[in-house]
Amino acid sequence: MITFDSVTKRYPDGTVAVDHLSLEAPTGEITVFVGPSGCGKTTSLRMINRMIDASEGRILLDGEPVQNIDPPTLRRGIGYVIQQAGLFPHRKIVDNVATVPYLLGWDRKKARARAMELLERVGLDPAFAGRYPFQLSGGQQQRVGVARALAADPPVLLMDEPFSAVDPIVRTSLQDELLRLQSELNKTIVFVTHDIDEAIKLGDRVAVLRVGGKLAQLADPKTLLSE
Ligand code: ADP
Ligand code: ADP
Repeated sequence: MITFDSVTKRYPDGTVAVDHLSLEAPTGEITVFVGPSGCGKTTSLRMINRMIDASEGRILLDGEPVQNIDPPTLRRGIGYVIQQAGLFPHRKIVDNVATVPYLLGWDRKKARARAMELLERVGLDPAFAGRYPFQLSGGQQQRVGVARALAADPPVLLMDEPFSAVDPIVRTSLQDELLRLQSELNKTIVFVTHDIDEAIKLGDRVAVLRVGGKLAQLADPKTLLSE
């Protein structure tokens, strides 16, 4: 479980990106942060894995303040997926997915087997494993991005508008795939989007943020639907 305990982020120029945010993202659930551009969604995610640190308040991972965990250790337990998959252009798909296992010192064969299994899980045709990122569509690259984030089997998955850059039909299939995956994997997922329909579809709980970084509402998606 991830806990935000009255977290504030003030950037050096004085911008308050996140303002006394308190909420919980329970294990086994998808917690969605939704709100317009600039409401502090990305800032919130980056504080979880300590790409940046909170100015005030604490973020806890299973009760342990992330400030007490050194960033490399913290990040080993956190998969991160961004809008443009950010694949290494000169590495084959299978090696992109196996990057973290290689870094963790797994032997090549085991790491590649794991990568192949993950590619299948995210619904990518294994025939693509030997290709390079530029040979894949945007939606396929996002699948690879998700597979890569899952490679070390992290308990936490942070997803920053992962499906925003793909066309609506592909987006729907990626969303369905994520729900199916989560029903098997039971991770703690924090998913960021500006799309309220996506939030309602994916979220077990939905945190609605407004510009200035204040929590407007923490809702059950069914309640949001009826509004
Ligand atoms: P979102 O992800 O919801 O679009 P961000 O977390 O990226 O929002 O940004 C929240 C606010 O913080 C915005 O006003 C943004 O301009 C500001 N901001 C983001 N990064 C920085 C930074 N490095 N320095 C100063 N202000 C920043
Ligand atoms: P590098 O960018 O240093 O080549 P990798 O992308 O292979 O490293 O990832 C190394 C570790 O950092 C992994 O545990 C991965 O989950 C984490 N990581 C990669 N990108 C990000 C990111 N944008 N934010 C947070 N953690 C990240």
